Amino acid sequence: MKTIGYAAHSTDANMVPYHFERRALRANDVAIEILYSGICHSDLHTVNGDWGPQPYPLVPGHEIVGRVIDVGSDVKKYKVGDNVAVGCMVDSCQDCDQCHNHEEQFCRNGMTPTYGAPDRIDGTTTQGGYSKHIVVREEFVLRVPEKLDLSRAAPILCAGITTYSPLRSWNVGKGSRVGVIGLGGLGHMAVKLAVAMGADVTVISRSSSKEDQAKAIGAKGILASTDEAAMEKAGASFDLIIDTVPVKHDVSVYTPLLDVDGSLVIVGQVGPMDEFMTIPLIFGRRRVAGSLIGGIKETQDVLDFCAEHNIHPECKMIRPDEVNDAFAHLKTGDVAYRFVMDMSHLDVDAA
Ligand code: NAP
Ligand code: ZN
Repeated sequence: MKTIGYAAHSTDANMVPYHFERRALRANDVAIEILYSGICHSDLHTVNGDWGPQPYPLVPGHEIVGRVIDVGSDVKKYKVGDNVAVGCMVDSCQDCDQCHNHEEQFCRNGMTPTYGAPDRIDGTTTQGGYSKHIVVREEFVLRVPEKLDLSRAAPILCAGITTYSPLRSWNVGKGSRVGVIGLGGLGHMAVKLAVAMGADVTVISRSSSKEDQAKAIGAKGILASTDEAAMEKAGASFDLIIDTVPVKHDVSVYTPLLDVDGSLVIVGQVGPMDEFMTIPLIFGRRRVAGSLIGGIKETQDVLDFCAEHNIHPECKMIRPDEVNDAFAHLKTGDVAYRFVMDMSHLDVDAA
């Protein structure tokens, strides 16, 4: 199938329109017309080469919402016209203990990311959601519940699941004291989800400038990490901190904020970190942990949870030709929401 997307051709160039082919349907494939596509900071890291060399041209995007336009002969769960979604993975071995345990993100044989990875069958490079169409095997397609507004659901597929999974793993519930470092795409979803689970949520930000936005989505307020007195006063006051900072940093600034047995879960920086002080960990049995997206079953859970609790990400709708400007904003970190592209502006027949 002919399609069009926005691709990066090197680390330092802007993304530009790119015509390419989606594979012919295999028996277990679902063909999707993409309606909305979220812009994750991981897309920026990948395109920039922060995570190593990439197979350019590369079409990023792993927060995908669309409509089924065709199905393979063996597909059972979906039919033409269904509202569906695709997140950060499009395949895994389906045979190891992790896959059997619904944690495909930890597939022993390596899951297949939505873009920039070899397809398990034909070896071609997977291309992501900054495009008009995608073809994905049925097991990695999610259902968008009717109660969700399609135009505001895409960020649930990465920002939502990546924060929902640790909130669930650490048993957040009524009265849990949760801190969220960084009020961006992931951070704002962490706030909404934790609030819906009954937690008291505080945003830990570089300044107080996002205070109104934090409160508007249910946080008690902002703790400015640059305000030493306030940080000291907030010592030992959190059970769980979700750290979404997208760059190398010193977690020792934040670990004293945890109560005894509390955990700081890193979901932001994927790679080296600054040296950190062990004293807050040892004197308080505090933990530093990590978490990677979530499995397909849990991704369906977070979509259903958002529908049930009427949670929609804060989305700023843009046209695909504005993607490079959106990347510039993510670089400075001045947004407390997600950019989402309206893919109806993309035309396969355009020059
Ligand atoms: P984002 O929308 O850009 O938000 C990141 C936030 O971090 C910013 O809004 C800012 O909030 C804060 N920040 C930015 N630069 C900072 C700095 N130099 N020092 C301290 N704080 C800073 O990014 P995102 O889409 O939420 O993604 C965040 C990170 O998560 C990225 O690195 C991404 O690759 C990673 N990620 C990981 C997974 C996973 O599975 N673990 C999944 C998706 C994304 P304030 O202004 O409030 O400080
Ligand atoms: Zn992402």
